[in-house]
Amino acid sequence: MSGVENEPQGGQSNPPGAGTGTPDGWERLWTPHRMAYIKGEGKPTGSGPEDGCPFCAAPGLDDAEGLVVARGKTAFVVLNLYPYNSGHLLVCPYRHVSAYTALDEDETAEVAALTQAGIRALTDAYGPQGFNVGMNLGTVAGAGIAAHLHQHIVPRWGGDTNFMPVIGHTKILPEMLEQTRRKLAEHWPVD
Ligand SMILES: [Zn+2]
Repeated sequence: MSGVENEPQGGQSNPPGAGTGTPDGWERLWTPHRMAYIKGEGKPTGSGPEDGCPFCAAPGLDDAEGLVVARGKTAFVVLNLYPYNSGHLLVCPYRHVSAYTALDEDETAEVAALTQAGIRALTDAYGPQGFNVGMNLGTVAGAGIAAHLHQHIVPRWGGDTNFMPVIGHTKILPEMLEQTRRKLAEHWPVD
């Protein structure tokens, strides 16, 4: 759907992303949030889901609040609260596991199927020219939340790595997260 851009959404008690680790999913242009993320604020403090894991919390919220795009039986898809581009998706098992090798057969298959569905939805909704897809396993590999594995789907456009992210670690995000979530949910392929 076009036409949802710039739709005012004032008066919401819980801003989009309230359940995924920050109180204000709206203020995404800001570098300090990224820095807070890098410094570890809002990250799980331990290995258990009760230790503040945003990927364990998100499925318990409603879709808009948790930025959940799609829900499967063993895995789900959520918008990255700290996107590198508009439409940056994360595919997560519901189970709080860090190792890809710890996924059972169903989880492995569904993470793959949801990844394909995410690529289809993004293609349909935004027509990106390419994708980066993959997992950072372990903190040293770049995982922001290593305790709960997640597959990134980053839509790419020619020229999207411009001087802004290179110089300022700032990304211009043309759509607010909830608008993106809604658009992708609308374009999610039906089985
Ligand atoms: Zn978790």
